[in-house]
Amino acid sequence: MNILLAFKHWRIKRLLKRFPIKRLIWRRLMREDALFCGLSSVQKAYLRELTTLFIQQKRFRAVQGLELNELMPIKIAAHACLLILELDLDYYQGWRDIILYPDAFMVTSDDMDEAGIVSHQQRVLGGEAWLRGPVVLDWQGFVDDVSQPDLGHNLVIHEFAHKLDMQNGAANGMPPLHPLMKREDWTLAFSQAFENLQLQVERGGVPAIDAYAATEPAEFFAVCSEVFFMAPDQLAEAFPAVYHQLSLFYRQDPLARKTLAVVQ
Ligand SMILES: [Zn+2]
Repeated sequence: MNILLAFKHWRIKRLLKRFPIKRLIWRRLMREDALFCGLSSVQKAYLRELTTLFIQQKRFRAVQGLELNELMPIKIAAHACLLILELDLDYYQGWRDIILYPDAFMVTSDDMDEAGIVSHQQRVLGGEAWLRGPVVLDWQGFVDDVSQPDLGHNLVIHEFAHKLDMQNGAANGMPPLHPLMKREDWTLAFSQAFENLQLQVERGGVPAIDAYAATEPAEFFAVCSEVFFMAPDQLAEAFPAVYHQLSLFYRQDPLARKTLAVVQ
């Protein structure tokens, strides 16, 4: 092992020892949050290490009167780190801040149309992920998502999926694929499912997943990632090829995990 790698390992060990997540808090989170059911004890232990390191690398800030307590960063970090459980913490490198709003928040922007006319827009958002910048979250929205897993929504998974997508530039619905994955398989699976969902929305029926996914490919990837982890049976049924590609990318099979948790 070279000196740099040895130093990195020493530093990780030291951080894990110095800033352990309290056992009681961790066990409760693993037990009460449906998202973590079905993880093996080894996976949970590794997730705890990733979560600890993530909290040390990032800076959490609460605004608009929200008080940051001990549990909030742990809960957010654990959800964010589930995405990279079989990847690497380096997937979240290059930025530091996580900003928490108590509720949905208002953003203003100047948009220019094709005729060059600039309009001042105000929008209410639940979350935002900036390229090489912060992740912004509506805390109550996240809590509500977690309490209703069958709806398949998860704000933290959504915004951190955007962060993974941004590993190779602006979010476009294609994160950096692993060497053995085929770019054409990913493109075919995602473009067919995206068009399919757009058709469902246009026809006014009940879309297979949140209609917001039909707005653009980046949102489709983020919403599919939410459903992949929160309600994998729904995604596997609606868009099996997308489920397969996501299982290759995240190197996880939440559907098998869920089935196992039900049997247990
Ligand atoms: Zn989004």
